[in-house]
Amino acid sequence: PTPANRTVGNECGRPTTARPAGASYNFQGSRVLVTGGSRGIGRGIALAFARSGADVTCAQRTPGDLGGHDIHNGGSISTKEVDLTSRESVGQLASDVNDEGPIDILVNNAGMQAWHDSADFPLDEFDRILEVNLRAVFHLTQAIGSRMVERRAGKIITIASLTSFIGGYRAPAYVASKGAVAQLTKALCNEWAPLGVNVNAIAPGYIETELNTALKEDDVRSTEIMRRIPADRWGEPDEIADAALFLASDSARYIHGIVLPVDGGWLAR
Ligand code: NDP
Repeated sequence: PTPANRTVGNECGRPTTARPAGASYNFQGSRVLVTGGSRGIGRGIALAFARSGADVTCAQRTPGDLGGHDIHNGGSISTKEVDLTSRESVGQLASDVNDEGPIDILVNNAGMQAWHDSADFPLDEFDRILEVNLRAVFHLTQAIGSRMVERRAGKIITIASLTSFIGGYRAPAYVASKGAVAQLTKALCNEWAPLGVNVNAIAPGYIETELNTALKEDDVRSTEIMRRIPADRWGEPDEIADAALFLASDSARYIHGIVLPVDGGWLAR
């Protein structure tokens, strides 16, 4: 396969053929901030924007595996450290990034998950999940988005989840946080769409990343999941990246306040 038409192996289903995410977009001259770019979906999104020529900053606790990639079109990737459970750390990140110049595209991607019976769910863990998946999303969106509002331009994309629509199982904190970011997307859209800022969300289905390691190791759950995916396979980070680049592109200029499922048809079943 050529780089533009490579075959992608997928442990959870049939192989798929796809072009590298970002290949058909041009984001040269754009500055992008992606939270949680060290691995998984965020890494896929960061690499796709960089491949399309953008200058990308990834923010998370650890540097991750972002080096050594062939990035053409003048794009670049750098990393900053942030702990999204800390209000102070998020504030510092926002002011550092804003001091370096305007951000054109913010991708609130970082997230965490934990499964326990609701009856025993540790409250400290509940708080941590809400801090990362919800409070930090609002804090960063407020700090970066308010500058976009001043400039009357910008794109904000939050990675929500299928559990923005459905109740999930043994994951009350995650589900509550993802329902909340979907509503937050609509709330912000109502204020900021008239001011030139597009606020949208993506709801990925089951994507092969570390977040799902425990699920994949549970044979009963992973069989149930596969049975419910019409596309007959798990998704890949690049498939979420493609949706993010579309929403950030001029082609999506009239799209405001949506929570876009990218789920292989899960919600249809
Ligand atoms: P991963 O667990 O693979 O990656 C999570 C990322 O978030 C890492 O880069 C991690 O970096 C960062 N992160 C986690 N906690 C913190 C923190 N306290 N401070 C800063 N960064 C943090 O997850 P995915 O790539 O699978 O998930 C990305 C997003 O997509 C999440 O919002 C998730 O909820 C959502 N999603 C994922 C689905 C899936 O099937 N994978 C399905 C639906 C939604 P580090 O550890 O270095 O800090």
